[in-house]
Amino acid sequence: MAVDDDWVWYGGRVCLDFVNTLRDRWKEPRETLHEPDDVPRWLHDAGLLTDSACTVGTRTEEARTKEARAEGTRTKGTRTKGTRTKETRTYGTPEFVLRAAVSLREAIDRSVLTVANGEPPRPVDIAVINAASATVSHPAPQLALIDGRLSPIRAVHTPTDPTAGLALLAQDAIELLLSAEIRRVRVCGSDRCALRFVDRSPARNRRWCSMTRCGNRTKVRLHQARSRAVGPSSGQPNAGEK
Ligand SMILES: [Zn+2]
Repeated sequence: MAVDDDWVWYGGRVCLDFVNTLRDRWKEPRETLHEPDDVPRWLHDAGLLTDSACTVGTRTEEARTKEARAEGTRTKGTRTKGTRTKETRTYGTPEFVLRAAVSLREAIDRSVLTVANGEPPRPVDIAVINAASATVSHPAPQLALIDGRLSPIRAVHTPTDPTAGLALLAQDAIELLLSAEIRRVRVCGSDRCALRFVDRSPARNRRWCSMTRCGNRTKVRLHQARSRAVGPSSGQPNAGEK
């Protein structure tokens, strides 16, 4: 099971926060979605799953029981030569959702970095994102006045199913891929990070996923390296320097 510190929220868009669940992409990537219940837990933390749907072991089992009953009803009359048609139904199980989530995450990551670099994404990745997106309707666009300015918002009802939560992630990725903001996607400048984020700084020069996390750490490392090179008389690094 992933621990809270494994998940960070510096992406600026939920689809990038999701991409960042594979940590340490700069070296040997470290998976944080290990177990089936890690996906609904992450979706819940991201606001994409209701409280009651977060506990896979209880809710999904219940849903699967209902689903099995419904399936039994639907399959009445499908007996062939006295043998009821068997169906290996794994779609929607926690294990299936985990595999689908990881597949979607990597398709989003490859596509975002490729398009941000001005190149078209792979058709297979487009297909993965589209398939995930198609499982629920796109939330209706709404208008809002924010600080006196007309702004778009989406009326989102928090999903009660992890698959629907993944669909909203895929839809967020599609919006990002089709928007001008895609050219602002960055990979953290720390040589020990590689988290993805959207640079919304006015000068478009944000380097770090987080100043407190990677910005200051990098400056401390550089300062220590300089101190070792010139001797012990150097002062402390200025955390506010750019
Ligand atoms: Zn970073």
